[in-house]
Amino acid sequence: GDHAGDPRDSDALRCLRRVFGYDAFRGDQEAIVEHVVAGGDALVLMPTGGGKSLCYQIPALVRPGVGVVVSPLIALMQDQVDALRALGVRAGFLNSTQDMDERRMVEAEFAAGELDLLYLAPERLRVESTLRLLDRGKISLFAIDEAHCVAQWGHDFRPDYLALSALHERWPDVPRIALTATATEATRAEIATRLNLGGARQFVASFDRPNIQYRIVPKDDARKQLLELLRTEHVGDAGVVYCLSRRGVEDTAAFLVSHGIEALPYHAGLDAATRAANQARFLREDGIVMVATIAFGMGIDKPDVRFVAHLDLPKSVEGYYQETGRAGRDGLPSTAWLAYGLQDVVQQRKLIDGSEGDDAHRRRLGQHLDAMLALCETVECRRARLLAYFGQPGGASCGNCDTCLTPPTTWDGTIAAQKFLSAVYRLARERRQKFGAGQIIDILLGKKTAKVVQHDHDTLTVFGIGTELSAAEWRGVVRQLLAQGLLAVEGEYGTLVLTDASGEVLGSRRQVPMRRDPARPARAAKSAKG
Ligand code: ADP
Ligand code: ZN
Repeated sequence: GDHAGDPRDSDALRCLRRVFGYDAFRGDQEAIVEHVVAGGDALVLMPTGGGKSLCYQIPALVRPGVGVVVSPLIALMQDQVDALRALGVRAGFLNSTQDMDERRMVEAEFAAGELDLLYLAPERLRVESTLRLLDRGKISLFAIDEAHCVAQWGHDFRPDYLALSALHERWPDVPRIALTATATEATRAEIATRLNLGGARQFVASFDRPNIQYRIVPKDDARKQLLELLRTEHVGDAGVVYCLSRRGVEDTAAFLVSHGIEALPYHAGLDAATRAANQARFLREDGIVMVATIAFGMGIDKPDVRFVAHLDLPKSVEGYYQETGRAGRDGLPSTAWLAYGLQDVVQQRKLIDGSEGDDAHRRRLGQHLDAMLALCETVECRRARLLAYFGQPGGASCGNCDTCLTPPTTWDGTIAAQKFLSAVYRLARERRQKFGAGQIIDILLGKKTAKVVQHDHDTLTVFGIGTELSAAEWRGVVRQLLAQGLLAVEGEYGTLVLTDASGEVLGSRRQVPMRRDPARPARAAKSAKG
């Protein structure tokens, strides 16, 4: 007599309606669920907000036994489990935040078959006692969430994930479903190899988020630019502002508050209670702007985030896509706005040079940064570039990104490039010196600053040969030389050095097309005042 629905409905559909209260599956969900219910392995690529959780939760409920979910998002497990319990799903988790008693209780529930879903931190599976525990119960499936963490090529590698390939050896008959929101072709291939999922069926959803307007602007005074954006286009809207450092988060939040915007800080340096309180306010109240490091956002499900702003350059296109993807989950128009400048490149290089790990690791980080720079400096449609990066060639232009709305003109920057590169070359050859962009720009502009005079740089033949461009335009030139691999940044002080390709420009064997920054930033056609 309850709402059993149409007897022709599948168990999965009935579960979706009865347990989760939704009417219908979305996109690939149904195909994925049916495949896993039938015992098949799956590799699922779906953008953030696409609805990955149901893809393993429903099969776990429909199949006999306990669904074991491996997730690195330890901080979210309690919330996820609470949410499932509120729906009447018997869920539990095991991770390092628990004390012995809590752990024992969950283990007992598992062994007694009293759970539908068990969330595990990946490091738990390195512990033999956990494996023995799993042997004592019946497992319906393994779900490997955030599966890109297994890929060394990716941007979020976690060594504990490598051990997950052993699951299949130990429990060969249990179906596995690996899920991720970020995967280029290379990462996808690496996931399949490392998790022994070569035979798994792949479900690749479109990564396009048509309601998000992508905009990347040259950084001038990032906080003021942000304020302008909020005041003209996002009055009273909820949004996330990402900064690289804790200090940047604190300062930006204080700046916004002092200008009458309800902003809250979030970073790992705040105590847990403050973080939780700020997060709760962001989720429950309207129009809160969360200023955060990338520590914020994983698994946060707030549908009406109207904008995501980056005040610092993300480390990779994957990271950028994931972070901007938190905007507009409700499908309504939203903005992804990034301010980026030369200093960002210098800073990121410094971080890479100083990072732990071997050369190969640093090289990968460098490649991720280069791809991000290429996205910033492209004259093509941002969305087309993004989708192409994720192996999904789309149309030529989307009509909803800054380059489509305000097409940047290009100019022949070959002469400017030659001037800049020869200044770098002369400093290195004649003076055995390396300098950052600021000093070289001063030299080209013929500015007799104290530092120029002190180093006797006004006697260089390149002194004053670049007055046709402004300092800001020269910074644009440098950014593009970096993005095109014609110049490189190194060391603690962000000094500039030539690359192998620089010689082609200096020898006039290579043209250098450049993007001219639009005079006025692209803006959505709205009731923008002033
Ligand atoms: P992801 O893990 O891919 O980021 P989630 O699984 O968190 O996405 O789902 C995002 C949101 O969409 C959640 O609020 C979820 O409840 C909702 N959702 C997922 N599938 C459906 C569906 N078939 N019908 C309605 N809402 C859904
Ligand atoms: Zn476009």
